[in-house]
Amino acid sequence: MVYVDAGRQPRRRPDVAFVRHKNSVCSRAHAIRTCKSMSKGARYIRDPQLREFTLRVKAEVERIGKLAQGRGYVIYAIRDPTLPDRYRHHPDGPPIYVGQSRQLRIRADAHMKDGGRGTHGGRLKAGRLHRIMKQLVVPKFQILDEAPTHLTSLIAETAWARRYCWYGYELANQWGEHRSKEAPRGLDSVPTRRLWNLTVADAIEDEVSLFLQCKGCGIHSPIDLETLKPEARLGQLRSLEMKCPGCSGPFLQIVRPDVTLWKWRSYLPGSMKAEC
Ligand SMILES: [Zn+2]
Repeated sequence: MVYVDAGRQPRRRPDVAFVRHKNSVCSRAHAIRTCKSMSKGARYIRDPQLREFTLRVKAEVERIGKLAQGRGYVIYAIRDPTLPDRYRHHPDGPPIYVGQSRQLRIRADAHMKDGGRGTHGGRLKAGRLHRIMKQLVVPKFQILDEAPTHLTSLIAETAWARRYCWYGYELANQWGEHRSKEAPRGLDSVPTRRLWNLTVADAIEDEVSLFLQCKGCGIHSPIDLETLKPEARLGQLRSLEMKCPGCSGPFLQIVRPDVTLWKWRSYLPGSMKAEC
C-alpha cells in the first residue's frame, strides 16, 4: 500500500532583520549566506535606521499574523505604500501580489525575507518587494477574504487576483490563472496542477481523489486517502513516480471534485466592496 512519510518541515521563525549590503538593504540571513566579508557584521545590526526598520517589518508581520489567527485560510494582498493606488485609492498603495495561506504570519515573514534577498528580477515578487524595502518602507499586508478549505482558498485567490488584473493593477503573481482579466468560474478556474499542493487531509476535506489508473491496461483503482499520512502533500506521492505494472506508463491520477455535486459548491469569494 502507498505510504508516504511527509518528514518534518523546518519551521520558519519571524526573525526578519536587515543590513546594508552594496548600497542596498538585504535580509541578514541573505548577507550571512552570500557575502563572506558581511558574515560577521551581519549578525548584529549596528545601523540604528536599519534596526528601526527591522522592528517595523516585524511589527507588520505580527499585526497581520494576529488578524489572521483563528480564521482558517485567508486570502491576502501585499501592497506597495511607495506608489499611489491609481484605481481604488487605497491608503497603503496598489496591490502587488495576491496569495492565500493558513499560516499567514509565517508566510508574511517569508515574503519579507524574500524581499530582503533582492536578487530577483524587477517584475517578480521578490524584486518588487525589494524595491520597496530598499527605501526602508515596509510592504503592507491586507486580508481580503477567508475560505473554509484549501481548495476554496485557491478559488478565492484566483478571483481576487483576476479582479485586480481587471482593474489594471500589475500583479507579481506568476500563475497564468491569476494573470487573466476574464471573470473567474469558481472551481473550474483552478487548474488541476494546483491540486498537487493539497495535503491528504485537505484532499479528504475538499473531495479530491487519487486513482491508480491506466486506460491501456484496464486498471482503475481508487486510493483510500484515509490510509495515508494526513499531512503528506499529494505532490509527494507523485514524486514517487509510480508506473503502471503492465506498461510502465503514467499511473497516478488526481481527480477533481464534480462541480455540481461538490460539498463546497456554494462557496463564493467575498465581495470587493468591503475590501478598501
Ligand atoms: Zn498500463
